[in-house]
Amino acid sequence: MRLAFATEAAPGRPNEDFAGATPNAAVLLDGVGTPVGSDAGCSHGVPWFVQALGSSLLAGMSRDEDTSLTEVLADGIKAVASLHDSTCDLTHPGSPSATVVMLRRTASAVEWLVLADSVLLLDVVGTDEPMVICDEREALVGEPYRKAMDALAAGTPEHVAAHRAYVETLRDHRNRDGGFWVAAVDPLAADQALTGSVPADTVKAAALLSDGASRLVDRFALASWREALGLLALTGPDELIKLVREAETSDLDGARWPRGKAFDDATAMFWKFF
Ligand SMILES: [Zn+2]
Repeated sequence: MRLAFATEAAPGRPNEDFAGATPNAAVLLDGVGTPVGSDAGCSHGVPWFVQALGSSLLAGMSRDEDTSLTEVLADGIKAVASLHDSTCDLTHPGSPSATVVMLRRTASAVEWLVLADSVLLLDVVGTDEPMVICDEREALVGEPYRKAMDALAAGTPEHVAAHRAYVETLRDHRNRDGGFWVAAVDPLAADQALTGSVPADTVKAAALLSDGASRLVDRFALASWREALGLLALTGPDELIKLVREAETSDLDGARWPRGKAFDDATAMFWKFF
């Protein structure tokens, strides 16, 4: 078994992604940033939130294999909320939140959980294309609101304002039926995650990608999922992130690939089982 990961903040900002692993469990979180000029009701910030939640999830996944990943996530959300419910306004719609990917290997199975728009790839024996697991509810809910932002050149004050308006509009749909679900304060969000398991002896490798890394494939279309897996196996997660940064640098104003952030925190984990 070999597990490698790389994580790189967007230039000039703290990293709001989290990656961590034990010999049998991996966790990737992508914290939802608070745009400049927006309030979040929390004095701790998103990097604190993802580190507190990520380490709680890793501990919970390793403690007891009979506890489902859904239960581990619900318990983790509750535990982190209890760390700051006396000092922060956890009813604030912008309180820190994160996407979640959890992967655990037991003697018999590889179990997974995906909440919101980070990507999990499973390279399964006997199939040409990897299994791609991504929760697309936020993208679907956000699509009608993206147009104003995507029409503007990235890096301009107008684009910054449109991005802030987009993020604040989406907050109204967060953790609601008919909207999209992320790990924030409400443990019921765990029940909304995509989950599953595959027999342990059928999974050759897995990749966990924050959307800042998966954009090489799903936004820039510069590689297929199969090619991304090959790249991770051959040259490693840092090389994949380097390709993302080169693409972003070649399109700073977002003319070719409209996007909310010219650069995003990027995290890639690659777990080779056999
Ligand atoms: Zn707080």
